[in-house]
Amino acid sequence: MRAENENKLPIWDLSDLYQGIDDPAIDRDLDQITKHSITFEEKYKGKIASESLTAEFLKSVLVEYKSLLEISAKPSCFAELLFSTDTTNTKHSALLQRTREVSSVASSHQLFFDLEIGRIPDGIFDQIIDSPQLDSYRHYLKHQRDVTKHRLSEAEEKILEKTANTRGQAFTRFFTEITSRQVFKIGAEGFTQSELLVRFHDPDREKRRIAARSLTHGLRQNAHSINFIFNILLHEKQVIDQLRNFELAETSRHVTNEVDQSMVDTVVEVCVKNYNLVGEYYQLKRQLLGIEELTHYDRYAPIADEQLRISFDEAKQIVLEAYGEFSPELAKRAELFFSKYWIDAAPKAGKQGGAYCMKVTPNLHPYIFMNYTGSLRDVTTLAHELGHGVHNLLANQQNILNYGSVLPMAETASTFGEMLVFEKLLSRIESPQQKLRLISSQIEGTIAAVFRQIAMFRFERVVHQLRRQQGEQSVETYCGLWQETQQEMFGDSLQLGEDHKWWWLYIPHVFQAAFYVYSYAFGELLVRSLYAQYRREKESFIPKYFDLLSAGGSTSPSELVSNMGFDISNPDFWQSGCDLIRQQVEQAKQIYRNLNYK
Ligand SMILES: [Zn+2]
Repeated sequence: MRAENENKLPIWDLSDLYQGIDDPAIDRDLDQITKHSITFEEKYKGKIASESLTAEFLKSVLVEYKSLLEISAKPSCFAELLFSTDTTNTKHSALLQRTREVSSVASSHQLFFDLEIGRIPDGIFDQIIDSPQLDSYRHYLKHQRDVTKHRLSEAEEKILEKTANTRGQAFTRFFTEITSRQVFKIGAEGFTQSELLVRFHDPDREKRRIAARSLTHGLRQNAHSINFIFNILLHEKQVIDQLRNFELAETSRHVTNEVDQSMVDTVVEVCVKNYNLVGEYYQLKRQLLGIEELTHYDRYAPIADEQLRISFDEAKQIVLEAYGEFSPELAKRAELFFSKYWIDAAPKAGKQGGAYCMKVTPNLHPYIFMNYTGSLRDVTTLAHELGHGVHNLLANQQNILNYGSVLPMAETASTFGEMLVFEKLLSRIESPQQKLRLISSQIEGTIAAVFRQIAMFRFERVVHQLRRQQGEQSVETYCGLWQETQQEMFGDSLQLGEDHKWWWLYIPHVFQAAFYVYSYAFGELLVRSLYAQYRREKESFIPKYFDLLSAGGSTSPSELVSNMGFDISNPDFWQSGCDLIRQQVEQAKQIYRNLNYK
């Protein structure tokens, strides 16, 4: 069923998956998943980590494993997609819950496989790994081995798994529960955290100041509990890292991300060296806002101007043109999402907020979910999600084990797509005020995605190290370190007030996914460096870029990028990304000067 709502916004057609929620094929597939998983375990458990393993046998098991993953993906993706467009429909939520339960039973029967890959005797593994039969599985096998090197025995892993919800995960949940229940007061009125944070974008400075006070006041009320949680989480990570033999607190993240310590160090160093860029931008912002001295609640203040509205058709045209000027091949793939109704853009009651692109399997196409309201931000979101979409379409020549990219690479095509559309939008806008607004929002987005994440990463580095060396710390100590690592980024362009030092207490990543944040910076800067290269090279860059996307997750990030002829261990590569941001800051300054000399 292909449809549009009354505002001509597309509603997706999921019939490539199932004919509807009552399609009997859903039951049949869910049944198959459990049955196949049980048979898979019965047939192969104990036969992988074995002295008599051959390349041929391993390949045949991998082929079966692959098809098991493929049949597992379809019903759960369908349920997720359906649920997100109407979360109030109880049939949708029931199907979602059912698919999740089936998946969790299925994965308990599949778990042994990756564990055994890690335990194949070294001699046997070395003997078979270079066999041509394992060509398209080599990367997967090697990566699983790197990961499982740090795993404990099956019995120990089971204890950790089964007690997970009474340890760290329980404390993370507690953090979420405390934070999401908290009511922040302004006068007699109560606000949730996200309602309060929106107020930091208010043009009225007094409103922002009051919101900031309220945030600090609320956070301080729970500071003791949250700090207790934080200390426990830091300690748990230390204990488990020791058991698993990870050298530093951040090492486990690098292993999953398939990047080396030295590469992460290089990215951090280059970013810190370019912190003055953040300072330069905020000096300009201070002038734009006409404020004597900027402080923490001015960071997200809007640069006042009238809002531009763009219809969905226009947005579609802008994005396809921008993609097409880069490469008609890329635009052709992006166009499929519109003509085949693989996109759901119409906002409606009960629909989830935000946007995502969901890949299913290499044999099926991805879907794009968003809520289009006509803002500039929505045009960028469309460009972003279509980037993911074409990335997945290009990677569909990989098998399902190599289909997805690791975190630092996952945002490559989406961010690249955004850059293309940003330039296109800029060329269409006549008014210098609008141009300045667009560039500023682009720069602020980059600062948030690159430099702010690095500042947070540096905070995590020092706190984990301190906890490891000197035991539990007071909330004031962590507050001091937070303030220091954040202030560094602004130099003297913006003075963070005393209140701001408490604000680490609400950053979910710090509690829920230690050291996750650098992947954002890594990915964003990587794309800027690639984009700078595209500007230099033009035509010859394009086939290399296609190769990068088509490779999906079949090789590590450093190999992927070095296949394009770049060396990501070289600071110059990263510096070229920072230079591109610097050019934008210069551009903004120039427009500002021109406006003021008129
Ligand atoms: Zn994304």
